[in-house]
Amino acid sequence: MIKTLCLSSLLWLASSLPAFAAFTLAPLPYAYDALEPVIDKATMQIHHGRHHQAYVTNLNAQISEYPELAKLDLVSMMQRMSEFNDAVRNNGGGHYNHQLFWQVMAAPGSGGEPSKALLEAIDRQFGSFDNMKTQFNQAAATRFGSGWAWLIVNDKQQLQITSTANQDNPLMDINPVRGTPILALDVWEHAYYLQYQNRRGSYADAWWTVVNWHKVNRLFAEAMTTTH
Ligand code: MN
Repeated sequence: MIKTLCLSSLLWLASSLPAFAAFTLAPLPYAYDALEPVIDKATMQIHHGRHHQAYVTNLNAQISEYPELAKLDLVSMMQRMSEFNDAVRNNGGGHYNHQLFWQVMAAPGSGGEPSKALLEAIDRQFGSFDNMKTQFNQAAATRFGSGWAWLIVNDKQQLQITSTANQDNPLMDINPVRGTPILALDVWEHAYYLQYQNRRGSYADAWWTVVNWHKVNRLFAEAMTTTH
């Protein structure tokens, strides 16, 4: 009976709870088939429900090793990655990267357009939107093995394209290129193999039609106003 529990047992219970589910898998912000025909339903179900879920589960398992993880927001965790082991690097990175990835995508035709401010910054840095796209796709194509392509705002408040291996990202203090991600493309085979097989380039080309510019515009504005 709950009435018979004294205050100290309740406090003990409360303090022991975060160890089981400090990190949780949020539902996708759209249906599993919403990104079709660019990304098929089965890929999204497996990618979100199994791959992303595994990163969350495995990250939670590291809380016994590092209790402070349970109190850290994901960005702070990335920025302090040098303090943690490879399991936190891979699974914490996997959790951050995927939650961003889902948000920067939207059903074809619903993602809007890059803002005026973002387009100006793209022109300044890359000469044109098409050049930025070409460089981004090149970063995606040339990342050997598993990893991610990124558009970031670096510490000079400039846009920059980069890629990372595995589940690393440019927020991590251990990453050679640092910055705030505003756009992310997962180029692990699990992200595209069912539909595109080995054609990573076709996947990257098609992916631009599901970019959620509403979200990217907001991330860009936030990154430009953040003091470094
Ligand atoms: Mn993935």
